[in-house]
Amino acid sequence: MPAYILDGKSLAAQVRAGVKEKVSRLAQRGIRPGLSVILAGDDPASKVYVRNKVRACEETGVASRLFAYPSSVSEAELLSRVGALNADPAVHGILVQLPLPRQVDAQRVLDAVSPAKDVDGFHDVNMGALVAGKPGLLPCTPAGVMRLLEHADVPLAGRRAVVIGRSNIVGKPLALLLLRKDATVTICHSKSGNLSEITREADILVAAIGRAKLVTAAMVKPGACVIDVGVNRLPDGTLAGDVDYEPVRQIARWITPVPGGVGPMTIAMLLENCLRAAARE
Ligand code: NAD
Repeated sequence: MPAYILDGKSLAAQVRAGVKEKVSRLAQRGIRPGLSVILAGDDPASKVYVRNKVRACEETGVASRLFAYPSSVSEAELLSRVGALNADPAVHGILVQLPLPRQVDAQRVLDAVSPAKDVDGFHDVNMGALVAGKPGLLPCTPAGVMRLLEHADVPLAGRRAVVIGRSNIVGKPLALLLLRKDATVTICHSKSGNLSEITREADILVAAIGRAKLVTAAMVKPGACVIDVGVNRLPDGTLAGDVDYEPVRQIARWITPVPGGVGPMTIAMLLENCLRAAARE
């Protein structure tokens, strides 16, 4: 039987409806959650991501402001903007859209964001809290994956989870969140020699690589839960994940589609983080 499809689009819509309701409750306390987005340069994908995030804010009643800069922007200008937003009480969340132009040290800009307003969860303080198992703002994509797993009741405790990809924004934090749920976690990366040997052991297999269809059916244990974080543009202009979807769907028990799986959950978690940051006031 083909896999059960983890429908991120519909779960994200539920999450957004919950956010909308909580936004109206916060309004009774005189609080309107506010997100400021910093966009620098003219990367077309970044522009689309930012547009979607701003639109999601509008839909749910989160106030959003966009600060767009040309690709010639200096690091000092961005740091000064972050400083002003940190000091502004109407701003609860600050999002710095990556990538930043080459002359800017992205980590320095991310680290300048107040940890309390770091709705992307990229600040060292929030990363540290995640490692230590303490409360903090979680990175949105890994949090969205965990919500999908939880919603579908995918068993995690004592199961083997394999995460392919070790980036700070997806692979590493997701591995830590799976560990928090008592999975036995392995992280694979570009230097892992025996990839398919390891992935075939996985009850939960996450692909966060950025290589279209790298995960084939031969790499997947029958009955596994397969989470595809990858977003790749094929030469014909269509989108594909890191998983060879059709054949893998035939043997997995759960699978996320691309698009419509992890992607919508990322934005939904961003909205929740804005709420969380605003409700702390
Ligand atoms: P990244 O480039 O920072 O990291 C990719 C990781 O994959 C690295 O750790 C690398 O070691 C590993 N890797 C590369 N080639 C490999 C191979 N042949 N075998 C095993 N491991 C290999 O990327 P990222 O920022 O973590 O993003 C990963 C993918 O997820 C991208 O396609 C990105 O577009 C997508 N993404 C999606 C969302 C979403 O909301 N859906 C959010 C963030 C990232």
